[in-house]
Amino acid sequence: MERVIVIGAGMGGLATALRLAHKGFDVTVLEKQAKPGGRSNVIEEEGFRFDMGPTILVMKEAFDETYRALGLDINERLDFRQLDPNYRIYYHDDTYVDLFANMAQLAQEVEKVEPGVTERLFRFIGDSARKYELGMDFVERNYDHITDLANPQAGVRLVQTQAYQNLYGQVSRYFHSDKLRKAFSFHSMFLGLSPFDALAMYSLITYADLALGMYFPMGGIYSIIEDMLQLADEFGVTVRTNAPVAEICVENGRAVGVRLESGEEIPAEIVVSNADLPYTYQNLLAPQHRKRYPDRRFSKMDYSCSGYILYLGVNQTYENVRHQALYFSEDYRANLDDIFVNKRVPAEPSFHLNIPSLTDPSLAPEGHSAIYVLAPMPNLDGNDFSWDETAPVVRKQLIDRIGRILGDPEFENHIVFEREYRPTDWLVDINAMYGTAFGSLSQGFFQSSFFRPHNKARDIEGMYFVGQGTYPGIGMPMVLISSRLVTERITQEWL
Ligand SMILES: Cc1cc2nc3c(=O)[nH]c(=O)nc-3n(C[C@H](O)[C@H](O)[C@H](O)COP(=O)(O)OP(=O)(O)OC[C@H]3O[C@@H](n4cnc5c(N)ncnc54)[C@H](O)[C@@H]3O)c2cc1C
Repeated sequence: MERVIVIGAGMGGLATALRLAHKGFDVTVLEKQAKPGGRSNVIEEEGFRFDMGPTILVMKEAFDETYRALGLDINERLDFRQLDPNYRIYYHDDTYVDLFANMAQLAQEVEKVEPGVTERLFRFIGDSARKYELGMDFVERNYDHITDLANPQAGVRLVQTQAYQNLYGQVSRYFHSDKLRKAFSFHSMFLGLSPFDALAMYSLITYADLALGMYFPMGGIYSIIEDMLQLADEFGVTVRTNAPVAEICVENGRAVGVRLESGEEIPAEIVVSNADLPYTYQNLLAPQHRKRYPDRRFSKMDYSCSGYILYLGVNQTYENVRHQALYFSEDYRANLDDIFVNKRVPAEPSFHLNIPSLTDPSLAPEGHSAIYVLAPMPNLDGNDFSWDETAPVVRKQLIDRIGRILGDPEFENHIVFEREYRPTDWLVDINAMYGTAFGSLSQGFFQSSFFRPHNKARDIEGMYFVGQGTYPGIGMPMVLISSRLVTERITQEWL
């Protein structure tokens, strides 16, 4: 059977390795870092366990499908708990609103902010559901020709839902208060897009969150990676860590294997790169093999944002807080423009606050909490400030605000473990272009579906891509769907 090399042990790379091994291919995964997982990595120290990247699991069906394709039931292997509310949203004036998946509770909650909004809320969710159906028509498929976009039913839905409008503008027609506009437009940030630039189409993510539910695997997201690694072992997949690939070897227009930084050459008939796609083209493939993807093509593309993260172990537990929370600074627009347009650190950062030890106390020592805070930040393209100078300032702002949210004026003194992650770390650790966090290429219209770089290199036989850089795009469910799409392609072409 053909030999496959998967470059990178991110979630998409591991899922592809499992799917291909299940089909009978001889698969080796090569990961540059010491620990597999990519963006979905873990810190385990001093009795704390922190997911380093993704913490919000929506569209669980993509996870279920990945395991079904392997002849397995993910729910028999991992213990998922539904989170409801999905998030608590905190505002600058110390008020908050809980975004419940339970629609009756959600309606009660938003009525407190904007009396009379219930009918508009339900209309918004119904319209977002139609956008979800529309979006999935374009997500769940491979693309070969631009005519693959021609879909009369989708065209009708596009007009009906006006999904081509601006996200924030459209959300503002359903919700009149600043607080609810924030609460129902921020989701595009998960794709690294400002709601002021994103298509209204992306309220499909709000629908996926609220109507399809948000889940937490006990042990955290990394327990999925650990389970995939166990399956890799059972399926005979070789996973090599500390094995950075320096070059994809191409002969006569065919991928013939890779060369590691150590100089070792590993032959293969098929190479699948799970490493960042712009990085792979520009750094692992010699220019003569990628005439359609020269460096200047990547320099013209749009890149998503980055983030600054604190992982905090605290010797307290807290009541009246939620597993997932978001804090929005007062001037939402200024915050987003600083990240996406002005490329500077926002004066007052908005952030995502995650306290998984509330659901799974085993993630922290008894009487302690594991706290993760992620503040979206500009990527490293064209920003001219130093993270060495900036990080302590942002850290202080985040800690002060979290102390206020938790009602703990001594919060900083209760921190017993602390690690941080900066935009520069994604660049070095993951080879993420411009230190982008969620994924590199942002998901505007012209970088989605057919227009996103394809999962098969046109100029090189046997060369494929999986993960956030190709279609459908950014986020765990998307990279799992991407693993299905590239597996379908490879099996059609090679089996
Ligand atoms: C802070 C943060 C929060 C996020 N939050 C969420 C969330 O809540 N929900 C959600 O669904 N998604 C979230 N995401 C996005 C999600 O994590 C990613 O889109 C997804 O995990 C990317 O997976 P991937 O398969 O593309 O591989 P990646 O995780 O990007 O992994 C690529 C792998 O390739 C390796 N590699 C790179 N170069 C080489 C080389 N030369 N040789 C060998 N190996 C190499 C890297 O080390 C890495 O392990 C978040 C991401 C981040 C960073």
